[in-house]
Amino acid sequence: MRRLIPFALLIACGAGPAVSPPVVLRQTVPPAGSAGSGSGPAGNVQLKADVLAIAQDEDGGRKAVDIVRSLTDEVGARPAGSPADVLAIEWAERTMAGLGFSNVHREAVKVPRWERGVETASLVAPAQPLAMTALGGSIGTGEKGIEAEIVRVEDLEQLDQMDIKDVRGRIVYIATVMQKEQTMAGYGKAVAARVMGAIAGAKKGAAAVLVRSIGTDNNRLPHTGMVKMPEPADGLPAIPAAAIAIPDAEMLDRLVDLHKTVRVRLKLGCKRLPEGTSANVVGDFQGADKTDQIVLLGAHLDSWDLGRGALDDGAGVGIVLAAAKMVASRKTPRRTVRVVLFAAEEMSAAGARQYANDHAKEIEKHVAAIEADQGDGAPMQVRWLGGNDAHDLAKSIGDNASALGTVFEEEAAYGGTDIAPLLGQGVPVVDIVQDVTRYFDYHHTANDTFDKIDEHSISAASRAYAIAAWTLSESPTDLGRIPMARRTRR
Ligand code: ZN
Ligand code: ZN
Repeated sequence: MRRLIPFALLIACGAGPAVSPPVVLRQTVPPAGSAGSGSGPAGNVQLKADVLAIAQDEDGGRKAVDIVRSLTDEVGARPAGSPADVLAIEWAERTMAGLGFSNVHREAVKVPRWERGVETASLVAPAQPLAMTALGGSIGTGEKGIEAEIVRVEDLEQLDQMDIKDVRGRIVYIATVMQKEQTMAGYGKAVAARVMGAIAGAKKGAAAVLVRSIGTDNNRLPHTGMVKMPEPADGLPAIPAAAIAIPDAEMLDRLVDLHKTVRVRLKLGCKRLPEGTSANVVGDFQGADKTDQIVLLGAHLDSWDLGRGALDDGAGVGIVLAAAKMVASRKTPRRTVRVVLFAAEEMSAAGARQYANDHAKEIEKHVAAIEADQGDGAPMQVRWLGGNDAHDLAKSIGDNASALGTVFEEEAAYGGTDIAPLLGQGVPVVDIVQDVTRYFDYHHTANDTFDKIDEHSISAASRAYAIAAWTLSESPTDLGRIPMARRTRR
């Protein structure tokens, strides 16, 4: 396995990428003689010693690797509502019970289902196959397929400004380039081209939409992902939408630049299926004295069909399960530490909405939520969003996690798709921002497999989540509630 050096260490040491030191811990043990000082939230000596023990628990963090291996080898790809998803739910219950969680159970979720089918694309002249895959939720092309000239746009804004007569009946090719960045920012800037491309194309009468893969590799492996289809209620027809691999997209760019007329033939056998059933899987390490107060750690259990969902989101599943286990291995937490493995994040986020509905009566009891859905990268930053008086506790989470090389950011936390409905109701969120430099080389492709998991960075990430959960479960104070005006996801 390849090893990654946490960003903070690279900066601190100026080390080149060939060097792979273990994660170095900053000593946070207070000087002798200061026992029982209890300065500020979670500030006493025992708490600090526990923080250091978690920070140093490399093996505890590495449990995340075993969990991803088990999920990917023994279940594999698990699209929501598929037969494999049923196996994944059983796997989750078994795995959580085996780790010692109590109250392990499933909570049913209705999910939209979609099936890929046979798919082919080619240049018409000269005849050349294109590496292409349908976007999740797309309609198919029908047996005959579609053959049409492509019209290239750099982004959705350019498509919006196009004259309808230049687009009608053609295949819109959206050439938006995703930049490789260390945080999710690169994805955030590019992903709308995929999600909104079909609606934007349908508005201009396009026959279909092809999107340059939202990814950062140069493999001939297209990146799938969810696309919103126009609905009849919008007065627009649904149109087929697919992603092409980056090298193939760049060939289209070169051909268009030569002022060539580029014709593409496209055949997609994908189809939307009747609604199915999945489940959120929930398990607790029950708190000793504030039992009814919940610190929630979440990840999503479903994956796309092309790979095995190792990084997305097997890694997150491994990270949160291992993190909760590390917390519970120190001692019984004061508050309940709950793991929720959410259903159907990729296509619909139905699991996220269902959890918030099912637990509407105890939303106030959720003192914080943390989501892991950024792969296996090293922890880099701690961010938070909570009550106006909660800065000291948030800062102490940042200080505690800094033993693993993270920096505390005042920037408001993002939360994540699965905890967005909780955030919307005021539940404070904490982000452990992970290094995603490599993540989008594999994300949503056939290449998202177990061998990509880096045992050092995923262990460090899991320990950072554990420290955050642990600080939140033990602190005399909590993060309050998010003020009404800030309860919207960025
Ligand atoms: Zn994900
Ligand atoms: Zn995903």
